[in-house]
Amino acid sequence: MEINVVADWFVNEPKAWNEDLLRLHLYEFEVREILRIPLCATDECDNLVWNPTRDRCYTVKSGYHFIRSQKEIKKGSGASSEGRGLWSRIWKLELPPKIKNFIWRVCKGALPCGINVQKCVVEADPTCQRCLRDIESEVHALVGCPFAQEVWEVASMDDELFEAGGGGRMVNTVDFILKRLQHDEVCRFMVVLWACWNGRNKAYHSDEQVEPQVVLEKAMSFWHSWRVVHCAW
Ligand SMILES: [Zn+2]
Repeated sequence: MEINVVADWFVNEPKAWNEDLLRLHLYEFEVREILRIPLCATDECDNLVWNPTRDRCYTVKSGYHFIRSQKEIKKGSGASSEGRGLWSRIWKLELPPKIKNFIWRVCKGALPCGINVQKCVVEADPTCQRCLRDIESEVHALVGCPFAQEVWEVASMDDELFEAGGGGRMVNTVDFILKRLQHDEVCRFMVVLWACWNGRNKAYHSDEQVEPQVVLEKAMSFWHSWRVVHCAW
């Protein structure tokens, strides 16, 4: 069989990588890496996208911010001390512990969004079940999905915060926000992230129609109530 394009590596019913063909032509470690790449379950046309912007279109500005954020992440004495530094900054925030734990899981890439579930359950469909437009990564679930975008809009949060943080990876964004914003703004940003995830879970696990405004208000109210009890004003 002649292989000219990537699609020649697929079997179509159901759409999946043709593992036998891959193993025939490639080394095992290459096959393992390729099988980790999720395939879109729907018949969309291929197109080029740039993850660090919400609309997936490249801009010179977002390219600059992305490269700069990558350099900042690489600075320091190593991944583990960097991780400890990030965690200690998250832990100092005046936020309920469950929101801080959520932020840490976001940074570690440990949310059970579609793409992460597929890493454990290969046959799981990683497509976002709310919009059916894209693979559900952390970035998609918390920022890129139309529902999440509405939450950010209702919260009147600056779009550029996400892109300026090198939005391709949530850990870059969180790191950027922690360094650049004042404490209260940081907390508000994290609560909005949490609200996006809550809204996503409600939509996934119940038939209840959830409004971005309601999801945001509940999250903010939970945060404010917690602060009244736990923080000195
Ligand atoms: Zn979506």
